[in-house]
Amino acid sequence: MCLRTRSTFLLLCLLTVVQTFDILRKVGSWNHQEITRTAILRATARTCQDTAGGFTMPEPLNTTTLAKACRRKKPQDDHFKKAIRVICYYNVKTDLSHFFDSKYHFDDEKFKMGKSVITEGITNVTDHVKSQRFDDARKTLGNILHTLQDFYSHSNWIELGNTSPYTALINPDEELHNIADEQLKTCEENCKDSKCGAKILQDILDNKFLTSGYFSIIRKKPAGKCSHGGHKDKTTGLGKSWDGINKDSIYSSHGSLHEKAANVAIEASVKLLENIRDKINNPDSFLRLVGLHEIKPKGSFKALLFSAFKDRYPDASENPDVTVTEKIDE
Ligand SMILES: [Zn+2]
Repeated sequence: MCLRTRSTFLLLCLLTVVQTFDILRKVGSWNHQEITRTAILRATARTCQDTAGGFTMPEPLNTTTLAKACRRKKPQDDHFKKAIRVICYYNVKTDLSHFFDSKYHFDDEKFKMGKSVITEGITNVTDHVKSQRFDDARKTLGNILHTLQDFYSHSNWIELGNTSPYTALINPDEELHNIADEQLKTCEENCKDSKCGAKILQDILDNKFLTSGYFSIIRKKPAGKCSHGGHKDKTTGLGKSWDGINKDSIYSSHGSLHEKAANVAIEASVKLLENIRDKINNPDSFLRLVGLHEIKPKGSFKALLFSAFKDRYPDASENPDVTVTEKIDE
């Protein structure tokens, strides 16, 4: 199978089983690409504000207006757009490459392992940039942004009342606190209203224990733990509506918290980008990482048309900026 056909096939497979902030646009919900794009625009704007004399925050904030405000002219706004698409591509691909590995999605209470993915990734991105390997850096950056963003959708950080990012996830020196241990029950069992797996125990909320939903396609979950939820997650049980605590879209069981989770995920992504920028210690190199440079990022991309999914995602092809992209070559 050629790379292009294989990529298409794998991405279509991914679309049928995705268990994350969505990758296709749903009305009223944020997907990974929108969260990533918004965060890159904000982090880049702050960088230009700090370094470019006479910078004025553009309104509206998009790749064209920001490239101009950062005193970068054409064709750099095209390069900027492309770099963002590359980073978004590798963000989405995390679901494909690591679908069953819960640490990449902060499922199954894999908090310490998920944090290692992020902190080691930050080091790798920084090293790649310092060695001028910008294509490798964008790849890793997309991967770790995905994992970081999933934390806010898949854990109970938002249910605990937090409105800002968990800085310990990107800071190796800051310990993760109060993680629910294996034995601690976190969600109601055997409840009568079919919401088992989605109702976080009051004791967990009162004592601020950190937990996340369990995801499995074979109905396997430790007793008393929360489920991820969604129609592909079998941990809740047949006839119990597959409820869980994810906030992937407004249609999720905890979808009323989706907007809050997405906003904190955006701010967390900005902080991760700024952390990398500070470690690089060279604003021009950071701007090149996000595409504001005369050298065009590698790779060619094509918007996928999801004809098979049009009924399920009727608005998927309306906005090419947020539609999943297919990588045709390296
Ligand atoms: Zn994920």
